[in-house]
Amino acid sequence: MKDNELRERAAKVVPGGMYGHLNAAIFAPGYPQFFESGSGCRQTDANGREYIDFMCSWGPIVLGHRHPKVEEAAQRQLAKGDTLNGPGPIMVELAELLVDTVPSADWAMFSKNGTDATTQALMVARAATGRHKVLMAHGAYHGADPWCTPSMMGVTPNQRADMIEFAYNSLESLEAVAAEHDGEVAAIIVTPFKHDSFEDQELVEPEFARGARALADRIGAALVIDDVRAGFRIDLRGSWEPYGVRPDLTAWSKAMANGYPIAAVTGTDALRSAAQTLYSTGSFWFSAVAMAAAKATIETLRDENGIKQMELAGSRLRDGLARQALAHGFGVNQTGPVAIPWLSFEGDADLSRALYWSDACLRNGVYIHPWHNWFLSAAHTEADVDEALEGTDRAFAETRAHFG
Ligand code: PMP
Repeated sequence: MKDNELRERAAKVVPGGMYGHLNAAIFAPGYPQFFESGSGCRQTDANGREYIDFMCSWGPIVLGHRHPKVEEAAQRQLAKGDTLNGPGPIMVELAELLVDTVPSADWAMFSKNGTDATTQALMVARAATGRHKVLMAHGAYHGADPWCTPSMMGVTPNQRADMIEFAYNSLESLEAVAAEHDGEVAAIIVTPFKHDSFEDQELVEPEFARGARALADRIGAALVIDDVRAGFRIDLRGSWEPYGVRPDLTAWSKAMANGYPIAAVTGTDALRSAAQTLYSTGSFWFSAVAMAAAKATIETLRDENGIKQMELAGSRLRDGLARQALAHGFGVNQTGPVAIPWLSFEGDADLSRALYWSDACLRNGVYIHPWHNWFLSAAHTEADVDEALEGTDRAFAETRAHFG
């Protein structure tokens, strides 16, 4: 099988054969490592097996793989040039689009990955306040730089010394750590809902969101929303806009350009001059193709109401899975927004059911993940979801047969 051959060759020339969150060795045994292609809501692995894809490349694919409008915009830019001596006019157009779309945005800065954006947002907050400490939720994922990577391998305690943890959705705990570090807090960084791996997801309590906003104002710290995972899937204006809570800074990436590499920080006028003082840059940060793709992606999401389509498809998937779980006698929890869902089995602390079921889903042509949330795209039609549900139903039946 080609996947196995590639793994063997990779083991000789890539540390561990693969590293990071896409390392298939940490998934269930049937997960393919290498992928050949993607189209709409489907991906084909290196062995030629096609899946209805509910991971969307871990978030970036929001309109479906190779969406024609995004590809056309990217190709048009590519024909003119990508990485030039300065950004293309497209940078200004994209910044204008973000400022018009996101009410908390008066300006935008661009980079490549979500980690660039979260790191840059904290730099802006520190430059603005002259303070060092940052309050973050225990267990939250903000990226893979030393200040935030979940592993301490290769990281010194000093690189973590300014990160202070609170419990997500507990205003009491947030207030307590803020009081302990009175006068030292540059920023509170928070994801729009709790989406830690291995755990049921938790939507934000509106009082927590509003309380975090009020606290940040009271102590003179920046409220940073890490919208890298949820941004452009829940609400184009920003994921806390429905709660009436506007951040000072927002980190964006994943879904912004339908798979093209780009990230952004947006911020308010009050932080503009601090943002201007940073030395924060990268050789590829201003490549124009990803910017053209981002503009086309956001405009298409807006003009074709992509968020609504993801909600419809996500609800259909959630309802179908709930019916199937009940019919097969499994207690399950489905948590998070329907466009960024996750399913866990009750009484499955060792994840054996989740691992077996996700593997069975793969065998039945549905790509999901046993311990990380999934993603819907606007390319998932009712017919695709129904076809996927046939696969998940067989997977539930196989899981029942296995566990008795
Ligand atoms: N913040 C959040 C909430 C994320 O989900 C991620 C990526 N999973 C990041 C930051 C880091 O983004 P990247 O992997 O693009 O650096």
